[in-house]
Amino acid sequence: MSKRSERLATDGVRDAGATAETRVVLRIGVDLGGTKIEAIALDAHGAEVWRRRVPTPQGDYAATVAAVVALVRAAEADLGCQGSVGVGIPGAISMLTGRVKNANSVCLIGQPLAEDLAQGLGRDVRLANDANCFAVSEAVDGAAALAAAFDTEAAPAAPAAPAVPVAPAAPAAPAAPAAGVAIDAGTGHPGAALGAAASGITVMGVILGTGVGAGLVVDRRPLDGCNAIAGEWGHNPLPPLSQLGDNLDPVRRRMAHDETPGPRCYCGRYGCIETWLSGPGFAADHARTAGLAQSTHPIRSAGPIRSADPASPDARAIITAMRDGDAAARASFDRYLDRLARGLAGVINIVDPHVIVLGGGLSQIDELYTELPPRLPAYVFSDEIRTRVVRNRHGDASGVRGAAWLWPPPGG
Ligand SMILES: [Zn+2]
Repeated sequence: MSKRSERLATDGVRDAGATAETRVVLRIGVDLGGTKIEAIALDAHGAEVWRRRVPTPQGDYAATVAAVVALVRAAEADLGCQGSVGVGIPGAISMLTGRVKNANSVCLIGQPLAEDLAQGLGRDVRLANDANCFAVSEAVDGAAALAAAFDTEAAPAAPAAPAVPVAPAAPAAPAAPAAGVAIDAGTGHPGAALGAAASGITVMGVILGTGVGAGLVVDRRPLDGCNAIAGEWGHNPLPPLSQLGDNLDPVRRRMAHDETPGPRCYCGRYGCIETWLSGPGFAADHARTAGLAQSTHPIRSAGPIRSADPASPDARAIITAMRDGDAAARASFDRYLDRLARGLAGVINIVDPHVIVLGGGLSQIDELYTELPPRLPAYVFSDEIRTRVVRNRHGDASGVRGAAWLWPPPGG
């Protein structure tokens, strides 16, 4: 038995007296993407112990199911024990039919994916939208867990027994700190953050990339919603500037004009948040408003913010120009910030999340984290805003990590 298998097995023995749910010590997460399928396995402490990535069979549903099953079996063969399985998908499971809907991987649409994976693996499999998985990952042991921990710094120590099945500290893992306030984002062990996430924490995970999506997490559990669309914020209309009255300066008057009704969205509506806040939306607004000729740093491809994100080159070029002093690029980013503030304020006024975690290619823009918060008070209906806006911690791994945390549900 390998050292790794030994540790996992030991955790299993240690948990032998617990309930069936808390006996699960190996969590396997699968991120089923349009071009790749990635799987990881997390041990009882939330540490990654296995990872593999394979290409997604294109347009072949049966082969896609087989690929997911094969990845899970490979992890279990290598690690010497069986785990729980969660899968993040680029879509949702219809509450009406139990089948996949809203997926951009067309071969998944209408398929009973959960049933087929359960049959292939001989156990229940949990599926969730990939943006929900991102939010779960950041809420359980990512940036939102850390931000929430710091917010509870003055609160009494966290309960001795974490709600999630975190085994007692292994030799390599630090003891869970009281309230988790001493976790270092760079070196802290994920298991410590698990113990730190305070009860009742609400997290919104926002993807700002090729598209705009979001997931909501309450107490480390994804909020699926009645129609399985909770968090589909990108297809709300952008809140208008009109709430500020008639005293608009020329720049804002122009913005209000452009936003009425706004660009057409692929969903058939006009002016969806996604058409403004996605990478392509940001670049298109810059091109429309600034015009290539007016910019001293014309839009050009400066390399992707993320190689997997085809939308990013233009957005990155605008940010590069802004940092070089280009006034038109600066104005475009100001408009982006104002629209992002309006969009997020609409969510804050309803959900009032503790933490908003940004992901996707545009989340790498450092200025977002200093320049966005001061713009929120103009649009949020509150005399104070404690909501933290933070950069994701796990990056591209958030989706697959969140899938792993779908089972058992974070928080028990
Ligand atoms: Zn739309």
